[in-house]
Formats: sequence, C-alpha cells, structure tokens
Amino acid sequence: MARCPNCAGELLFDIKTQSLKCQQCDSVFNPYDKDKTVEGVVQEYYDTQVFTCPQCGAEIESTDFSGTGFCAYCGSSVVFTSRMKQAEMPQKIIPFQLTKEDCKKRYQDKVRSAIYHDKELENPEYLERFVGYYLPYWLYSFEVDEPLALEGLKEYRSGSYQYQERYALSGQLQGKFNNIPYDASTRFDDTIAGCIAPFTEKNLKEFSPNFLLGFYSDVADADAKQYEPKALHMVEQQLWSSILGRQGFQESDMQLNNESIRSLTKIGAKSVTVERGMFPVWFLSYKKDNRIAYAVVNGETGKVYCDIPISESRFHNASMMIAIPIFLILNLFFQIKAENLPWYTMALSTLLIVLAQGQISKIKKREDSLTGNKNKSKEEKAKLLRHNGTGYALISVFFSLGIMLWHPVQDEYYYLASAVSGIMSILSLRLMIKKFNILSTRSIPEFFDKKGVK
Ligand SMILES: [Zn+2]
Ligand SMILES: [Zn+2]
Repeated sequence: MARCPNCAGELLFDIKTQSLKCQQCDSVFNPYDKDKTVEGVVQEYYDTQVFTCPQCGAEIESTDFSGTGFCAYCGSSVVFTSRMKQAEMPQKIIPFQLTKEDCKKRYQDKVRSAIYHDKELENPEYLERFVGYYLPYWLYSFEVDEPLALEGLKEYRSGSYQYQERYALSGQLQGKFNNIPYDASTRFDDTIAGCIAPFTEKNLKEFSPNFLLGFYSDVADADAKQYEPKALHMVEQQLWSSILGRQGFQESDMQLNNESIRSLTKIGAKSVTVERGMFPVWFLSYKKDNRIAYAVVNGETGKVYCDIPISESRFHNASMMIAIPIFLILNLFFQIKAENLPWYTMALSTLLIVLAQGQISKIKKREDSLTGNKNKSKEEKAKLLRHNGTGYALISVFFSLGIMLWHPVQDEYYYLASAVSGIMSILSLRLMIKKFNILSTRSIPEFFDKKGVK
C-alpha cells in the first residue's frame, strides 16, 4: 500500500488524471515519483501478495487488496488464501486508459446488441463486479541485419528470338521489430486475448509498481522462451512478403529462382530482447447453472469480448409470437394434402439432426480448447454432449417414415403422425437451445496444479 505524504491516506492510480491520487485529500502525484512508491521495491523486484482462489485455483496478485471478493475466473464469491511474494519487475506497462464507467458502457452496448440475452447481464449490481486486471505479456523485439542474395530470371520474346536474362540480386536485409506481444498467462484464454487485441504502442510506458495500485494483476507463468520461435516466424513472414511482394524484387516480370527463395528460411535475428509488459483489461464473470460466462474489455482501446448466454424463456416466448402468425398465414394460403404432411415433418427433423450434430462438434472442439479444461475428465466433457436433440429428431423421422410406408387411407393417421413428429421436433429444438448456451458459456475452470499428483 502507498500512503499520501500529506495526510497518510491511501494512494491509488487514477485513470482520468493518469496519476496517483490520494483517496482522502485528492492530492495527485506523478506515478514515477520515487518517494511515493509502494513499499518493498528492491531493484528488479517488488513485494506483492498472491491470492489463490480456493474454488478454482486461479492465482492473482495485488499489492493493496484484501483477500475477499469475487474470483473473476470462476465467478465464486470467495475468501482467497494469500501469501507474500517478490514479483519480478516488468519493464513496460500500458496504464488503464478506460475507466470502469467507460468499460461498463461498452459492455452494455455489446450485450444489448444480442437479442434474447439474459436480462441478468444488465443488472447494475452485477456490472459493479468488473475488476481491473493487468495481464502479463511477453514482448519480443528483434533486429535483423543480414545479406540477402537471390537469383532472378527474365524471359521475353523479340522477333523470332526467345531471350532469357539471369540476374543476381543482392542486398542487405535490415529491420527492427519492436514489442511483439504474447499473452504470458496460461490461465487467460488465448482466444479472448486474440479477440481484444491489439494493444497499441502509443500508451506503452516504462513500468512502475505504482501503476498497479487499485488493480489486480495476473501472474506470468508461461515460459518466455515458448513464444520466441513463433514471434520470429512472424517477423520472417513479414520480411518475406515485403521482399517477394510488389515493393520488393517481384516486379517487371522478374521471376525469382525457387531454390534461392527457399534459402530465405535461414533468416535469423541479429538480436532478440524479451521484456515483460503489463496490459490492462476489465474482467467480469457471470456464473449460472454450473457454467460461467466471461466479459473482457480492453482497458486501453475499449474492444469488448463477451460470452452472451441467451435467456431460454425469452427465446421461447419470442419464437411462439413469431410461429403463431406464420402458421395462420400459411394455413390461409396453402392447402397441404394430409398424405404429403410426412414429407414436410421428415424434412424438418432431418434438418434438426444436421444442426444438432453440427452444434455437438462445435461444443466438443470448443471445450477441448478452453484453458481451464485441461484437468477435466473425459466423462465430464462427454456429459455436455448428451441430450443434444438428435434423439427426438430421430423419433420424428421414424414416425414420418413409418406413416409413409404404411400409407393408410384415412387422413386422421397422417395428422396424428405429423402431430407426434411436430412435438418431437419441438422437444429436439428445446434441447438444442440449451446446448446453444453451452457454446456461449464455459465450464467452471480448474487451475489447481496437478503436477504433484500422479
Ligand atoms: Zn492525502
Ligand atoms: Zn476462482
């Protein structure tokens, strides 16, 4: 905790003024002011408290929070266990630019644009739970400076002669690529990180622990070496596309020798620097029926990611409101012969089967990719795929097919079979809507370190 030199009140980082502000007397201070720095700063380290969620095992750091509140990762209201730690000092930080109020507004706009969203998502009390988080990133910078040699070929025809001209192309490849960011927290979902990207370099500043006052920060636990090849590969791709692209050698019908293009894979970096950076996000979670939905707002640019569960009852009511007039209108204009009815019900239920199966494969893919699901058992994942609506749709197909094969004379049998088919289709649809909410929410994560358990 940092204290105000005037009144000993608590100092917190204030987003509007981008400075440290006393919570009692409103004095403001420069965040780089060494005298007001949080206690326990020793060269490359600063003291921080690590809070562990007893429910899901997520770890977060903070220098000035008490250990109670909502865990953003699993949405539970918990008393965190805590321990002191010397945290390694990051080099760079993008301080929060977007206030909590701005963030709520962006989030609300997004949620409102989704029809049938669960009304609970707009509850002001719930919105108050948005917490400011600094996410750790590894920032890679590369310098490239090496000779480049390529072979080129020009072919053209003049009169009855075919000309071939060979060129030896050479140059020096020089370039600097600064601060290519990779999410350094294994807990924070890479897909979400991708969705709220990019952060800009405009607000990137030299780090001071003072910027963290009033916020949580996530622990960097992904290996710095892990993303280096990826980042370098990206640099190479960019270099190649500029060499081989329109501004590069590839002009005036020059063909580059494939063999020499292949030699380009050998581009290496003259120097590599890896730094720690902290980037700001507002984080909120919504827990319902053993599922959780995340909302994450980029604290610099305001870009929003959110899982939006729909309200089943709102969806049903709306569907009914639309279905009844459509049914009446259809009845007015079309006379469907009873014996043709099974064709329609069969087409409908076949469509439902295709949709249900598509949904299932999507759920499976998504659940496998979620960060907090690594420790989950196969049965737990399989459970989510059951009761997906295919069963009812199959019964419906069965009834439609049966009545067609039987081909009775009386119309009543067709009506009866279609009614059964229709009910089965509705039941199937209901299950599919439930499954839809599985796609728009997540399993409660589990981050407990299971390394010791064999
Ligand atoms: Zn004060
Ligand atoms: Zn938790």
